[in-house]
Amino acid sequence: MELHDENPFKIRSYQSALNSLERGDADIMSLSEQELSKTPGVGKSILEAILSLKASESFPQLDQLIEKTPQGILEVLQIKGLGPKKVKTLWEELGITSTHELMEACQSGKVAKIKGFGEKTQETIIQNLEFKASNAGKWLYADIEEVIEQLSKILEEQISDAEVKVVGEFARKMEIISTAEWLIGSDALFAKKKQIKAVENFEVDLKSSGPLCLRGKIKDLDLNFAVHFCELKEFAAKHYSLSASPLHLQTLIDEQETVADKLMKNGFKDDTEFFNQNNLQYIPIEMREGFDEISLAKEAKIPQLLEEKDLKGILHNHSTYSDGKHSLRQMAEYCKELGYEYLGISDHSRTASYAGGLEIEKVLKQHEEIDTLNQELAPFRIFKGIESDILGDGSLDYPEEILSKFDFIVSSVHSILNMDITRATNRLLTAIKNPYTTILGHPTGRLLLRREGYPIDHKTIIDACAEHNVVIEINANPWRLDLDWRWVRYAMEKGVKLAINPDAHEMEGYADMKYGVLVGRKGGLTSHLTLNAMNREEITQYFENRKAKIKQTN
Ligand SMILES: [Zn+2]
Ligand SMILES: [Zn+2]
Repeated sequence: MELHDENPFKIRSYQSALNSLERGDADIMSLSEQELSKTPGVGKSILEAILSLKASESFPQLDQLIEKTPQGILEVLQIKGLGPKKVKTLWEELGITSTHELMEACQSGKVAKIKGFGEKTQETIIQNLEFKASNAGKWLYADIEEVIEQLSKILEEQISDAEVKVVGEFARKMEIISTAEWLIGSDALFAKKKQIKAVENFEVDLKSSGPLCLRGKIKDLDLNFAVHFCELKEFAAKHYSLSASPLHLQTLIDEQETVADKLMKNGFKDDTEFFNQNNLQYIPIEMREGFDEISLAKEAKIPQLLEEKDLKGILHNHSTYSDGKHSLRQMAEYCKELGYEYLGISDHSRTASYAGGLEIEKVLKQHEEIDTLNQELAPFRIFKGIESDILGDGSLDYPEEILSKFDFIVSSVHSILNMDITRATNRLLTAIKNPYTTILGHPTGRLLLRREGYPIDHKTIIDACAEHNVVIEINANPWRLDLDWRWVRYAMEKGVKLAINPDAHEMEGYADMKYGVLVGRKGGLTSHLTLNAMNREEITQYFENRKAKIKQTN
């Protein structure tokens, strides 16, 4: 509607209806006409649109708008930093109706010359277009997990008398998946290949396939697949080599032979036996990355990795006090119901006005509600937290008398993301040195496949967290997974604790902790160094000790 200059009041009415529907708990599609009409913001025409959507997956106004919009414009609208207004200008002034045309116009400098754009905007558009192109066909682990599991089932059912296993990035629990891969072991390979070609979901591309591997695309999905084949006697070795990273395979086990060399010998029935034969401790698949896991395994120093069941509480969550969907009570009761011992609530701080950040009065009101709920829900406990914006100069978002009222504080950057490494690192360092910072939230601000994080000097940041006893978050939202698992090892070496935080904005968000655990394990994380693996008593003590220290130094 914005693209086509529709009446601004109409646009706003759609927006407010959408906001109010999204805030509600119920699935719009399951609400009755009567219930829908009672929803604030849902007037007659929007009600009609929803009813039509239910019946035919579209509605006339939408059809008309799509009709007069070139297909490519919809893609241009998805480029970060380009709102409908800018897209409209590009369309009208330069006739741009596709991302391809947009790139050409940027490269020839035409975009910078349009009023309201300029060199900097043009540069940002180029970067975002490149980022988008480099991410085509890539998926977040969490978004593609179900599909891969379903396809595995289909393969197992349809390929009879064969060993079928997932290999590749998915087997190694990578945060981003670019190819779904399987290995099929059978002594009747020719027949198996024929069977695969007959499976509907797999569109085989013979040009990129070979004698021992079929490649192609999953039907109706922008996802590449590879199905590898081998004889049964090679299955264990192939499974190993197709699951590990190339770097891992090139690592020397002894003075002469690498993992890959040893695998060629094929004399083992599974990976456990392989490790035994080579005097190595078992290395979980997700750790086979080519870091230091082989030398750790030689010295039997592969740790017992963190598991979901080790987590005793959930920190960093939002409620309706700021931009969450569920009330504090709902968030707490559900957390308790799931069997956790405590919840850390950390709504947005006051500067984050776009996310309903809390003014001081609201903080105090929330604290009162927490006290009441804690009496009611005991021994379950809600900890009073806040996700304090790290302001431009690195300071936190409230005066000290308010900061001192919280049990814990997650300090995060949410604004002015366009920083060079020195500025970003210094900004975080100032926040880390602030004695009220308990946890450093999503350290780089990245959104996987959507936005690169601001650059930081990871070692300097981790060293500072070690010195100032600050916990680093592994934000478990599948878009973030930030701190990146590649830095978990270094943090652990320095004795820095990590917190697996779902950053839940609704009750269902707690389930994301699973992804935080997956990447934590990739980095070698143990329960010992995980903050929220502490039980209620331990973490109460932990928060209290930290606060007592601030008092001493003041
Ligand atoms: Zn945040
Ligand atoms: Zn948050």
